[in-house]
Formats: sequence, C-alpha cells, structure tokens
Amino acid sequence: MFLSSRVKEIEDSITLKLNAKAVALTESGRNIYNLTAGQLPFRPQSEFIETIRGDLNFLKSFQYSPVAGFPELCTKVLESWITKRDIDPSGLDHGVVISNGGKHAISNVLWSLIDPGEEVILLTPYWVTYPELIKICRGIPIVIGANIYDAFIPSLEDIRKAMSAKTKAIIINSPNNPSGIHYPKKWMEDLGELLLEYPDVVLISDEIYSELNYYDPKPTYPYEFFPELLKRTVIIDGISKCLAATGLRIGFTIAPKKLTQAITKMQGQTSSGANSLIQRALITYDWSNWSSYLGPVKGHLRRNCEILMEKLREAKLGHCWYQSRSAFYYLIDFGQTPAIDHYRSDKDDSADYSHQICDALLEDYGVAVVPGEAFGAPNTARLSLVLEPDAFREAIDLLMTFLTKEGP
Ligand code: PLP
Repeated sequence: MFLSSRVKEIEDSITLKLNAKAVALTESGRNIYNLTAGQLPFRPQSEFIETIRGDLNFLKSFQYSPVAGFPELCTKVLESWITKRDIDPSGLDHGVVISNGGKHAISNVLWSLIDPGEEVILLTPYWVTYPELIKICRGIPIVIGANIYDAFIPSLEDIRKAMSAKTKAIIINSPNNPSGIHYPKKWMEDLGELLLEYPDVVLISDEIYSELNYYDPKPTYPYEFFPELLKRTVIIDGISKCLAATGLRIGFTIAPKKLTQAITKMQGQTSSGANSLIQRALITYDWSNWSSYLGPVKGHLRRNCEILMEKLREAKLGHCWYQSRSAFYYLIDFGQTPAIDHYRSDKDDSADYSHQICDALLEDYGVAVVPGEAFGAPNTARLSLVLEPDAFREAIDLLMTFLTKEGP
C-alpha cells in the first residue's frame, strides 16, 4: 500500500508522542514527572458537569447537530466575543462554526483558505501543529524568528520583509503556546498598522488561551485597534484550555460569513456537526462562571511560576528567567546552561540538540518536557506549569541538577 506524499511529509505530533512516552514509563513503574501536558489537570467546573448530566436526558443530545453548530451556541459564541473584545457589532458580518476542537477549527480554516504554493507567516515559537497543517494544505510556512532575548516578541520589520505576493495569511497565537507570553499592546497595535498595508492578507488569531493570563495586562488583538481589519480576521477559540475540557472536543471559528459558509460546506463533507451533548450543555451553562473557575487556576500557575523563578535563581541560572504571563507553559533555554556543553562540539556549534537533551532528561532524571525544535525554538524545551506545586518543585529540582551539571 502506498501512502500519499501529503501524509508522508508531515511530522508526528511531538507533544502527543512525548506524553505517551512519559505515560508508558510511569506505567512501567518509574517515577516520572510529566511536564509535557497541554491541558489543566483539573475537572471542569461542577456547574458545567451538572449541565452535561442534565442534557443526557434528551434525545437531541445524541443526534446529529446542525453542521455549523446549534444556532443558539453560535450566537452565544459570537456575542461573548463581541462583549469581551468590546467590538462595535454594527456592520459586523461574522458567523461562527463549532468544530471538534480548536485544532479542527484551524484545519478547516487553512483548508478553506490556502491554495498550493501560497505562503502563511508563522511567528516563533509557534504551536507545533501550524506548519504541519499548512503543509497538508500544500501551503508554505514562512517562519519569523524570535527568542528569549527578544522576550519572544518577533520583529515587525522581519514580518514586513516576509510579506510577498504569495502571502495568504499570518497566524498569531497570543497567549502563546509554548512561551507563555502574550504580545504587548503596542506590538499588537503596530502589527495592526502593518497589516493595513497588506489588504489581501488574512489574520488568523488563535485565541484559545485568551482567558488564561495570570498577570496583567490582559491580551489584546490587532482588530481592537483597527476594526477595519475584522473583515479579514479569523478568530480561533474553544473550551479545551479555559474550561479544562480537552477531551470534549469543542472549538470555535469566528470569521466573516464568506469563510464560515465555506467551512460549513467543508465540515459537512468531512466530519459533520460537533458533539451535540456538549454543545447543548454549553448553551445552558452560564459562561460568566468561567472567571470564578479560572481564579484558583491562575493562582496555581502564578505559584509554579514563582517556584521556577526561585529555583533558577538558586541554581545561578537567573539569566534563563523571563516572566511568563499566560497560557500554562514556559520555554527553558538549554543554550544558556552548562547542559548544552555535553552536546555541542565547540562553542560555534549551532545545531539543535533539544531532542537528545530532552531524552537524557527523561531517561536519567525522569522529567518529561517537549523539545523546542518542534516549536521552531532550537535548544529549548517547553515545560508545563500545571503540575501540583510539591511535585512541580521536585521536578524543577531535578531539572536544575540536570541543567547545571558541568560539561566534559
Ligand atoms: N491552538 C493552540 C495554540 C493550542 O495549544 C491548542 C492545543 O494544544 C489548540 C489550538 C487546539 O486545541 P484543541 O484541543 O481544542 O484542539
């Protein structure tokens, strides 16, 4: 059997792969600290769970939903976003599609927008799935670099230089997976101004972590400064991260109706409507409860952030510290620690060793993290901040021992 070149060219999801490896090692009896998690280790809010329970009594919860989602839910998603972002609804011609998670939503958007050979600009560090999805659509990912020295804020000049006649879209993800920062207000405003110069470029704004900033200021977006960008802006959101419901698979696309209609056509031929039971529960559930649910979660993330800061300082690795503010990740830079000396042939060796380093950390110290190469950030690793604080402290102690071990 011959597989398509499309599938042969894409990479496995490294985060899912590593998580599976960490789980397998744990099941074999090893004490593993799993810092690969892309999800909160908590149950969703009890009110939401009760609503789902209540909806189990209805036949409709088990039957096909409309392809684009139940209209009441689509309206609720749209109105909630309008309120949160303080959008003027007059003249807004946006619709909503409910999909099987944020990943499905982005996949739908790219399939509906990208023709072979068209370019999509990505900003590092980026979520692992974007380049692979672009490649599946036969598009070309154009990657703009940023690193810890830039506080993970890409240069707008570099973005401008990357714009070409082939540029179809730019994807921004703020709050960001894997750096745990969100782009500053001024940067978002400047990006908006830059985008005004390129009227055919679509802005895809992945806002799936937008409720999860644990330090002020809250995230902002280019279209809040320049509403005229809305007619070519696509918003991705969902319940996976902010409602701790990754397994329920509900994502949202908010976009001009021309695009949501195209996505509906595509979704109707590929997956049909998303999970009816959960959509119905989301219609009944009071979304204003989200903030009270997320309050303690944010406290937890702040605490783990402080633990990390203290441990880096104690290990004399304070230069690896930056203040993460949102989502639930941190990107550790191996390149600034003695650990890299075990791998580099000399100081000019700029190859990426993140996979080897993460393997050694898992095998020898039992700490699982995700190699940064997959995020376009060589010689770094993503650690998840969600572990319960005592276990997190123990994991970070082991990490520091590993990072500070002098090279050969
Ligand atoms: N966007 C980003 C930046 C993510 O990190 C993720 C999940 O890890 C998603 C989208 C997709 O979320 P979902 O689980 O709803 O598919």
